[in-house]
Amino acid sequence: MVELLWLLLPVAAASGWFAARRTCRPASASDGATDCKPQYFKGLNYVLNEQPDKAIEIFVGMLEVDSDAVEMHLALGSLFRRRGEVDRAIRIHQSLIARNDLTDEQRAEALQELACDYTRAGLFDRAERLLLELSDIPSHHEIALRLLVTIFQQQRDWDQAISFARRLAKAGDESHLTNIAQYLCEQADAAWRHGDMVRAEEKIRDARDADPKCARAIILEGNLHRHHGRLREAIESYEGIEDAAPDLLPLVVQQLKACYTALDDEAGFDAYLEQSLKRRPRTALVRVLAERIRANEGEAAAAQRLERFLVDSPSLSGLDYLVELQAISEGVPACAPLGRVSHLLRRLTDGRAAFQCVHCGFNAKSHHWQCPGCKEWGSLRPIEPADIHS
Ligand SMILES: [Zn+2]
Repeated sequence: MVELLWLLLPVAAASGWFAARRTCRPASASDGATDCKPQYFKGLNYVLNEQPDKAIEIFVGMLEVDSDAVEMHLALGSLFRRRGEVDRAIRIHQSLIARNDLTDEQRAEALQELACDYTRAGLFDRAERLLLELSDIPSHHEIALRLLVTIFQQQRDWDQAISFARRLAKAGDESHLTNIAQYLCEQADAAWRHGDMVRAEEKIRDARDADPKCARAIILEGNLHRHHGRLREAIESYEGIEDAAPDLLPLVVQQLKACYTALDDEAGFDAYLEQSLKRRPRTALVRVLAERIRANEGEAAAAQRLERFLVDSPSLSGLDYLVELQAISEGVPACAPLGRVSHLLRRLTDGRAAFQCVHCGFNAKSHHWQCPGCKEWGSLRPIEPADIHS
């Protein structure tokens, strides 16, 4: 979707230019717009077919006919940047800004495009300067702040990212509070790594205030309680994930287990798992429960509990573990049919992505708080094996 929007930017700019020419100039036989119309549609067709090279060729030719067309310059610069020719994009946008015949809106558009060029080229200081200038223009205030947040996030300058995101949140877009909580968690993680527990605690508290449903902040809060030996409070935090982000409970199940074990309350852990599974069936949780039953009562009892779960909520990884338990409980050798089925199931489940971004579909074997694909925060969810789980 992002790719499509990006693709349509030059189209929108070019169509704006074409519309402007049609409204501002009476049609006549000598009118360049009329002459260029077939070329214009040819260029658009290339853009839509993701053939930027050919589109650029057409648009460059059109600029030779009408070198004043501002919107066409903007479209062309955007295409160059998209193709990775940032130097050429920068030259086009710089030459536009140097012109004195631009309207305020056209100048703002050119500034924004040039800031994007600088960002793409890694010239963050220059991009920041332009965006700060742009943020004073009401029509571009919000986009400038958004781009500044993106730049500071890219540079991992969390203080600045928080500062500009707070300005956006204050302007009414509270969705930025979720990102602010993530930036604060980044700072808490860094402080923790450096042993500065006072700062870590402060940042975790700020993150919880910014977004009470931030699963990452809840987990960090649980980790902090656990670090200080406050195990009941840690359990309360970890279990709070069920309200804030139920999909992410499997991320803390091992921490929960460790807390209950340290409190010598394994029965409490089993009871919690059973209750949680009633609220929402999850293979990752039932596997932990089955492992505990296996350790205490043996493979047959564990297989029985797992099978009861799988009847209602079948999943490939659950089936894999069930076959393994049954093969062991029945003393089946690896070369027997059941042993071979177990081996095949293991091959099917091994190496599969365990997490998927709900925003862009990126698959990952381990969890990331920021999607490596689309850079969205908190968008990766465990893939509850929905392959055969309806
Ligand atoms: Zn993503």
